[in-house]
Amino acid sequence: MKRLLLAPFAALLACAPNPPAPVKVMALAPNESGAYATVQVELKTVANFANLKGSVAELMGGNRVVVDANDPLQNLNGGIANMTDEQRYEVIVKDKGADVRGNFIEQGGVMWPADFHTWNMVSAYYNFERSYDYFLGVYDGVEPTELQKMRVMYWAYARIGTSEPSTDNALYLSFIKSFVIVPFAQQKLVPLAMNIGVIGHEVAHKSFNFKVMADQGIHPVLTTWSTSSFNLLKSLDEGLADFHGFGVTCLEPAGCRSNFLAASLSDDTLVRMRDVARTDACMDENLRSSFFNSTPDQWVRGTDMYKVGNLIAASLYQAGNRRSGDQGVQQLQKALIKAYDDESPQTPGLRQLLNSNLNTQQYWNLESVTNVIVAHVTDPELKKLLCTEFSTRLQLKCGAFPCPDMPACPVGGRENSCPLLPPLP
Ligand SMILES: [Zn+2]
Repeated sequence: MKRLLLAPFAALLACAPNPPAPVKVMALAPNESGAYATVQVELKTVANFANLKGSVAELMGGNRVVVDANDPLQNLNGGIANMTDEQRYEVIVKDKGADVRGNFIEQGGVMWPADFHTWNMVSAYYNFERSYDYFLGVYDGVEPTELQKMRVMYWAYARIGTSEPSTDNALYLSFIKSFVIVPFAQQKLVPLAMNIGVIGHEVAHKSFNFKVMADQGIHPVLTTWSTSSFNLLKSLDEGLADFHGFGVTCLEPAGCRSNFLAASLSDDTLVRMRDVARTDACMDENLRSSFFNSTPDQWVRGTDMYKVGNLIAASLYQAGNRRSGDQGVQQLQKALIKAYDDESPQTPGLRQLLNSNLNTQQYWNLESVTNVIVAHVTDPELKKLLCTEFSTRLQLKCGAFPCPDMPACPVGGRENSCPLLPPLP
């Protein structure tokens, strides 16, 4: 923030160089000990460095995003859920925004951001680039084209079904296929756009939306499913986003940081609850009751959505780690991507499970969803550990395997690391 002192020089920089990629630039990123500091990084994909536009992300500023049930335009054609992507974008993005422009001072071949927003935008672009690198790795040889030219609305005004605009957040809005970084108001820690795990989490939402939700801005099940099926879909999306966000942090010199939210969020309880490496992640009776009974609206507004997501993420982390440390975790990152979308009749993916149950939501449940993930793990020992973790932490109906509800699980069963809950009434 002290760099704001340099802002008065910005006017001198109108003719500052706009070097081609790769560009050496200072950003706020984790240093070798994991603390956020000004560090030199390289942007490898910027086509227009000053405007922060490149093959991975394109930043725009001054956008205005409004979702309002009373907006007549948003009620045309039966509402935004019935519109094409283009129509929906048109009626929700009230101001399409304009190019951003960073201000830099060059020092010995390294570009130094000259004001706060330039620090923030450069760091954000870097984080999108690293997130892309991560997914390039876990897509296992398939280019993640859907994660190219990701549209980023920087410092946008976003009012989404509420009376006040959103602050202190970074979001992926699938219904307009855009990332939105909103201004901060209360936050005093590392801005979310500068937090590499947070951007990794948001990029993971885009990957999930593209593959599992068939790239639909508003998938039909989001308006038709209720209680546990809807809740599981949202928790799965959030939990896997935290699991991949954690994966992105592993690319940095400081190594993997499962509590990456701690750098940005002051709510210690929330940070701890979402730590993918927590060993005490267990379904309890309150959470189970909330999961089975909450309405979609209650679920997306509460923290239980993240809690159930964390049970899934922690199961993945613990299974991978128990099998072979970071390597085991990496195997599961790749298995997940394969599980997202798989046309094969023997091992259908989550997308296929979703699509074949548009009107039979009861078949999208904890057992069927975790079974699809397990079915995409090739190492038998890792499969077994994952079944054990899922069964123990999520209190699945399958306490011992083989179990007809989870045919992908080899012989094995629940452990006693979570208190056993009474059977569901
Ligand atoms: Zn999220």
